[in-house]
Amino acid sequence: AILVAGNVGSLSDIAGQLLRGAGAAERLMELLETEPSITAPAAPRRLPTPVQGRVEAQAVTFTYPSRPEHPAIAGLDLEIAPGEQIALVGPSGAGKSTLFHLLLRFYDPEQGALRLDGIDLRELEPTAFRRQIVIVPQDPVIFGADALENIRYGLEVDDAAVEAAARAAHAHEFIQRLPDGYRTFLGERGVRLSGGERQRIAIARAILRDPAVLLLDEATSALDAESERLVQDALDHLMTGRTSIVIAHRLATVRNADRILVLDQGRIVASGHHEALLAEDGLYARLAALQFQDGN
Ligand code: ATP
Repeated sequence: AILVAGNVGSLSDIAGQLLRGAGAAERLMELLETEPSITAPAAPRRLPTPVQGRVEAQAVTFTYPSRPEHPAIAGLDLEIAPGEQIALVGPSGAGKSTLFHLLLRFYDPEQGALRLDGIDLRELEPTAFRRQIVIVPQDPVIFGADALENIRYGLEVDDAAVEAAARAAHAHEFIQRLPDGYRTFLGERGVRLSGGERQRIAIARAILRDPAVLLLDEATSALDAESERLVQDALDHLMTGRTSIVIAHRLATVRNADRILVLDQGRIVASGHHEALLAEDGLYARLAALQFQDGN
């Protein structure tokens, strides 16, 4: 993260989506050292207005260059309707994060295609695309910049829009209490934020982008009850009316999802509601017994 601290122009827009907590610097190094696989199309296609948020994967296969014998995503098919709330579950190494990486175009599939509103992600203009599929990571990176810039995150919007997003994300309250309010310098050399506060900054960033599709990597680490409530309330607000795919760790999330997708060895192996999947007594039931014991 040090590599991009203080740089909040368009680089941060890309880098911020790449860099997620621990291992971030390594991941950036890895990307800098590999051939750029992501290119802008010569004749980009436009998304419909308004963007609907239909997400499809068709026979997607992807293998990390550093593990050539081991496809992380292997013949994955899925179809997610506009506004549908999906909980993504699966054992460690199933490919959940990799699916997010592909949807964010950190990498492109080797075979098959991912589509937004029927258009192959590779045919979309990158800047327009990046506003439509946005991730709220588990442990968002805060840049060495003030609160305004941390929420604005490269977008050209005025301070009032930033504050409105912060209010909707329940970030306004704590930002106002900082020494210089929205002008307070944050990050490693500035004011350090708690986990719940960082998440609310990330939610404000996402609200400002107003994406059609939201990817959420649900936090595994516990927040205190008040922070948890504020984060959940902000997320509920953010997810309303958008297609959302949540890597789920909480029982409440899988229960409330329109549909649960069970990922195993790089493909979807089951799909349905919590109770129905439990009744199948397969992988989902085993995962649920292990992963969702928190009871909240
Ligand atoms: P977890 O729940 O543990 O986060 P996951 O379902 O998100 O797991 P992925 O992180 O997508 O799984 O990993 C899918 C497969 O790809 C695993 O076999 C993993 O070891 C491998 N993998 C993930 N990231 C990389 C990488 N940067 N380079 C090489 N292999 C990777």
